[in-house]
Amino acid sequence: MTVRIEAVQGDITAEQVDAIVNAANSSLLGGGGVDGAIHRAAGPALLAECRRVRQEEYPDGLPTGRAVATGAGDLAARWVIHTVGPDRHRGQTDPALLASCFTESMRVAAALGASSAAFPAISAGVYGWDVEEVASTAVGAVRGLSDDGGAGSVELVRFVLFSPDALAAFEAQL
Ligand code: ADP
Repeated sequence: MTVRIEAVQGDITAEQVDAIVNAANSSLLGGGGVDGAIHRAAGPALLAECRRVRQEEYPDGLPTGRAVATGAGDLAARWVIHTVGPDRHRGQTDPALLASCFTESMRVAAALGASSAAFPAISAGVYGWDVEEVASTAVGAVRGLSDDGGAGSVELVRFVLFSPDALAAFEAQL
């Protein structure tokens, strides 16, 4: 089945989807930007789960380009999928690493049986990537996975962008 791909402007924490993807950092212990917003909206249960995942599965932190799921605390979503985008300020400029955030998050969503997932513009904030490159990489990665039949249960991917500029960048790819 082909994944339907949408782009909207808004706050991802308010999304009514099965899985919300978080642009986390490798500590999984929260941060600024969308990560902070998700933890504030989800409440302490999310941080408690992240601490457990960190201890039990990723004692050295979640590697860049990988993804892991937790419950979603007080959010309307069922799951939060945490992924670590490449940080341009630390020399992580390989688009394959960024594409991996999207494909690995999709694989985790499919493994959970999620039918819908919302993504932010991973790495387009503090991690310093141009939102146009994030948009083309993100849409290309999701389309590619869908065309290869790898999207499993995921029928809808919604990119939720904070700013009009980011929305325009994603709309240009759709
Ligand atoms: P990164 O460290 O991966 O760059 P940031 O959180 O700094 O992550 O930024 C990623 C993108 O998320 C930016 O485009 C930022 O404007 C956006 N963003 C911040 N808060 C929210 C939110 N509540 N909902 C959706 N997008 C958000």
